[in-house]
Amino acid sequence: AKERGRNCYSFYTRELGTRVEEQAELENALHQALANNELELHYQPKVDLKTGQISGVEALIRWRRPGIGVIPPDRFIPIAEETGLILPIGEWVLRAACAQAVAWHREGHPPIPVAVNLSARQFRQQNVADMVRATLEETGLAPARLELELTESVLMQDRNTIAHTLRELKALGVMLSLDDFGTGYSSLSYLKDLPIDVVKIDKSFLSDVTTSAEGASLTRSIIAMAESLHMATVAEGVETEGQLSFLNRHRCHAMQGYYFSHPVTGPEIAEMLSAGTEL
Ligand code: C2E
Ligand code: CA
Ligand code: CA
Ligand code: CA
Repeated sequence: AKERGRNCYSFYTRELGTRVEEQAELENALHQALANNELELHYQPKVDLKTGQISGVEALIRWRRPGIGVIPPDRFIPIAEETGLILPIGEWVLRAACAQAVAWHREGHPPIPVAVNLSARQFRQQNVADMVRATLEETGLAPARLELELTESVLMQDRNTIAHTLRELKALGVMLSLDDFGTGYSSLSYLKDLPIDVVKIDKSFLSDVTTSAEGASLTRSIIAMAESLHMATVAEGVETEGQLSFLNRHRCHAMQGYYFSHPVTGPEIAEMLSAGTEL
């Protein structure tokens, strides 16, 4: 039994060791990723449910590692957050997304807002509003064409600090949206005095709307409450026609999901805009 215990122990430490090494390797490589141009943005359309037309896009980062392949953000954004690399990476994302939105417009497409995810660490940095303002000026994007997506966890800090930072950002003229709504602990009433324009209903709710009465009623009440607080609603992770008709019935404003389009490259978005692709 003793023998076996020792084996188990060494098995687990070896496993753990591998994971720690993997993390360290990933972290090292991530340091070089920006300089080596390995990061790129994909864009996923948001569709207005009244008009059926693309009403905006969300920028989503991808890391293309030579000889390895594409690493999804869920695998490296947490590391970037821990190490602080999210600050330079986040600035790069913001600049690239704003520049792309300006480029689409210059190519003759109607101006559509671009949404960028802002992580907790970025939001907490001293001069986040200055950084955003400088990027808007540098790229020439109209502030109203930029949307910043924040998760509830970002907003679970000292309320006065949060309110102050949100007001500074809002004063620039950008739109603010609450990402993954419903997965955290905040209620919409906690948010009612904050300058939030859009609530993005998390995809876990959408997967439930056609399969459970509770899922459907929760989603309905999020839409209704957002409405009463004058916030627009976007449903994330829409994959089926059934989910779409639910959203239409309950007057959700916009949808985003594989049912319409996966995240695609900048040129592919331009093609969709040219073709007038509709829901
Ligand atoms: P998120 O902000 O909630 O982004 C939505 C995620 O859902 C994206 O995953 C998108 O590809 C995926 N998705 C879209 N439609 C569907 C659908 O119909 N079904 C399903 N199952 N999934 C769908 P992705 O691109 O892998 O990004 C994952 C997360 O990584 C994002 O979640 C966001 O939290 C983070 N992230 C991505 N890009 C950035 C970035 O530039 N900065 C920061 N700070 N975080 C980012
Ligand atoms: Ca998002
Ligand atoms: Ca989300
Ligand atoms: Ca998410």
